[in-house]
Amino acid sequence: MIQGRNAIITGSTSGIGRGIALKLAADGTRVMINGFGEDTDIADLLAELEKLSGKKPFYSPADMSDPAQIEAMMALAENELGDVDILVNNAGIQFVSPIEDFPTDKWNQIIAINLSAAFHTTKAVVPGMKSRGWGRIINLASAHSLVASPYKSAYVAAKHGIAGLTKTVALEVAEHGITVNAVSPGYVLTPLVEAQIPATAKARGISEKDVIQTVMLSNQPTRKFVEIEDVAAAVAFLCSDTAKGITGSNMTVDGGWTAQ
Ligand code: NAD
Repeated sequence: MIQGRNAIITGSTSGIGRGIALKLAADGTRVMINGFGEDTDIADLLAELEKLSGKKPFYSPADMSDPAQIEAMMALAENELGDVDILVNNAGIQFVSPIEDFPTDKWNQIIAINLSAAFHTTKAVVPGMKSRGWGRIINLASAHSLVASPYKSAYVAAKHGIAGLTKTVALEVAEHGITVNAVSPGYVLTPLVEAQIPATAKARGISEKDVIQTVMLSNQPTRKFVEIEDVAAAVAFLCSDTAKGITGSNMTVDGGWTAQ
């Protein structure tokens, strides 16, 4: 049961994070969403979340690459939501390029958003979770936390990093009723993936259609994209009381990719 819990989901104005926010709200959780987007889209999402959960949701526009904005978001969450029971570190970006051309600012940005942001949010929520003896921290990693692909050096490094952060924090808080797990999707057709199709085609010198068929779906034995709802269901399960014995794990939702 996660009914009555409060949750923050970073990067939840789009894609997987949006799906997780909708699922947690449907399960009775009061949510704080975060991410970029048009004001009207965010207002529509907040209205949908309120309808699903019956509880007023909140929005923080904090930029996850900026520790000061993350700190402000965590303070807002405590004021508006109250106790933060569930933290889902989901915000992430991608950039595809051979290492010799990889822009240093893109490397720094990916490490900041996809890895360091989770350090800052986790550091902020752990004391409260410890004092209440209950907490759930879910880090959206990736199949790329377990295996690599060429031209994604920063992303693969950040995702391997968050898998390590997950295990370390899980050990530190294990006696306090707090679980810390990673969820690792394969390819999900979200704006993040759509945007990398042309860049991958360029880096590999192949067509965009071939990127989908021979680079992305060829990795997944199901030959299908993973669906947002599949990932959201895994996250909701890990947030439940039933999953109290699962911590420090890296749950793949990758159509069999990393089983090969
Ligand atoms: P997406 O582009 O659809 O959504 C990303 C979200 O993060 C958006 O809400 C965006 O506004 C937000 N965001 C981006 N930069 C931000 C910043 N600086 N501060 C705050 N918010 C920011 O992407 P997605 O595919 O839904 O990816 C979500 C997570 O899932 C990422 O961590 C990604 O690495 C991971 N993932 C995605 C896939 C996939 O195939 N789509 C596979 C494995 C893992």
